[in-house]
Amino acid sequence: LADRLQNTIQKIKGKGKVTEEDVKAMTREIRLALLEADVNFKVVKDFIKRVKERAVGQEVMKSLTPGQQVIKVVKEELTELMGGEQSKIATANRPPTVIMMVGLQGAGKTTTTGKLANHLRKEHNRKPLLVAADVYRPAAINQLETIGKQLDIPVYSEGTEANPVDIAKQAIEEAKANHNDYVIIDTAGRLHVDEHLMDELQQIRDTVQPTETFLVVDSMTGQDAVNVAETFNNQLDLSGVVLTKLDGDTRGGAALSIKAVTDKPIKFAGMGEKMDALEPFHPERMASRILGMGDVLTLIEKAQSEVDEDQAKQLEQKMKDASFTLDDFLEQMGQVKKMGPLEDLISMIPGADKMKGLKNAQFDDKQITHVEAIIQSMTKYEREKPEIMNASRKKRIAKGSGRSVTEVNRLLKQFNDMKKMMKQMTNQKGKKGKGMKFP
Ligand code: GDP
Ligand code: MG
Repeated sequence: LADRLQNTIQKIKGKGKVTEEDVKAMTREIRLALLEADVNFKVVKDFIKRVKERAVGQEVMKSLTPGQQVIKVVKEELTELMGGEQSKIATANRPPTVIMMVGLQGAGKTTTTGKLANHLRKEHNRKPLLVAADVYRPAAINQLETIGKQLDIPVYSEGTEANPVDIAKQAIEEAKANHNDYVIIDTAGRLHVDEHLMDELQQIRDTVQPTETFLVVDSMTGQDAVNVAETFNNQLDLSGVVLTKLDGDTRGGAALSIKAVTDKPIKFAGMGEKMDALEPFHPERMASRILGMGDVLTLIEKAQSEVDEDQAKQLEQKMKDASFTLDDFLEQMGQVKKMGPLEDLISMIPGADKMKGLKNAQFDDKQITHVEAIIQSMTKYEREKPEIMNASRKKRIAKGSGRSVTEVNRLLKQFNDMKKMMKQMTNQKGKKGKGMKFP
């Protein structure tokens, strides 16, 4: 994103005023990058709108070029999107402060429970008590006890026989008796959100009345993390989110959408498996990190420079009115060949991974050549109206192109599938807003 913006800046450098066109060009790049980073499209739309409003026609600051100013606006808005200020952990008026950790299985609850205790002790001089309230798997209790031993932080557990609500209640008594000023409750998770789990979590919450209810979400799950956050927030009224596995190969999309969708701040970020790999979440730093993700845009850049703009527009229109013919298909093949591996290009279309047809479509260069040969063996009329194709026509085409009838059939089927898919894509695109191009 940074590279991309730099290019755009080069173009508008020296201009005294940021024009609407300049801002449009920039916001288009940013929008694509955000969608690619798996950011919720509604969030992207609002975001772009705000940037545009702020950036167009703004006064020129002497110290900054117009381009830098737009970047400044983008960074500020990204920061704002993720909550603005860093959000601190709350403390109860009367100790102990109770923190309830919730989330799906594997999100990192147990690990984060340990990390958070470690953080509270180290940075805030607190005396936490950990609570093993995930009674469904003996391994879960052992895991927390191991972490407690490793950190030398006490763990309250009653084994797998007790009721999690009672455990939580007892743990608070224990904390009061031992002067633990924080109680962190590690709860059970499921693979998916389910009612029974929510009931149990609500019961624990009503009983212990936590100061903080933290949802632990795996940032690697992208848009799913956002959906999970929305559900948990509706059921449990979260006070904050901990985003784990940000050390992994994540594009930051979850971070960008969660605050906007739930209106709950991201308070911490998990940056690794070790007990010290937890950081208070800084929206501004995350914004910088996201602005630095140049790699995402290389492909978009490539596609945009290779596809002729007018041709792309014509193609788009054809998709809309379904007048896309085999001739267009052929022409598109040529474009595709110029751009390199189709798989890469497809993967950059937001939402394309969800379309089975696209994912399974196997195009390699050799196949493209075969397809070209087949189409070139068709008459003009056949190319425009492939539905007239019968057995004898197919045979003739197969002979003419040196391919088999099976291949001719496969191509015709592929073409039909593609046409259907394009319809889907143009419909979907309508929802996402204008401007996305089909390569
Ligand atoms: P739970 O089922 O929600 O309690 O999840 P766990 O705490 O057991 O964590 C599941 C896995 O994710 C474990 O292997 C953890 O080591 C790993 N994990 C948790 N947080 C992070 C993180 O921030 N970064 C990385 N790389 N791994 C993490
Ligand atoms: Mg666990």
